[in-house]
Amino acid sequence: MKNTQFEEARKRHWKIMGEALVKNLTDKGFDAVYTGSAEEALEKILDLIPDGASVGVPGSVTIREVGAMEALEKKGCSVIHHWDPSLTGENRLQRLQDELLADFYLTSCNAVTRDGMIVGIDGNGNRVSGMAWGKNTIIFVIGMNKVVGSIDEAVSRTRNTATPPNAMRLNMTLPCTKAGRCVDCNSQERVCRALLILERATGGRKSHVIMVGESLGF
Ligand code: SF4
Repeated sequence: MKNTQFEEARKRHWKIMGEALVKNLTDKGFDAVYTGSAEEALEKILDLIPDGASVGVPGSVTIREVGAMEALEKKGCSVIHHWDPSLTGENRLQRLQDELLADFYLTSCNAVTRDGMIVGIDGNGNRVSGMAWGKNTIIFVIGMNKVVGSIDEAVSRTRNTATPPNAMRLNMTLPCTKAGRCVDCNSQERVCRALLILERATGGRKSHVIMVGESLGF
């Protein structure tokens, strides 16, 4: 059973850190807010995305954990994603492309620095592409467990903290799923192939960030 006093202290710490981070993200061109829970984050997502919009969701555990897929479908949005085991070959590639072209691109990241830079790593490169550019609006939903002090720490987090459990979720056998940390492998199945650092919100689109005072995703 969780100790509520400890939980409360953690929440207070994250709120102070999160509000400072929101200011830094805002200075870097992101439209950022802090929310105290997954439920509040979901409310914010539903406020930002109008009924009937199309929403591309790449491989993000966070978006699923906050319950956004079902809630968006319930309000008549078309949710486009590729986590459908029946998708293969050309159909799967087309779905990846369709995610990128939706009205909204809804995702998380692998790390965010305290001074407001967002970092993601990818195997196919679809998610980092969608994070970097699109005519659509991007919404990042990021748990406070992903906040780090520097770009070096962010890169380390993507490889040592995010990737091994993510590969385990996919039932992959990689050097990091055995070692529990990155060994900079040369595996055919290596999932770390494209690394993106968003130093500022990119041009030509609206970029929202919803920070969440919970541990979400990997
Ligand atoms: S480079 Fe290889 S060992 Fe390192 S995290 Fe990526 S897949 Fe795992």
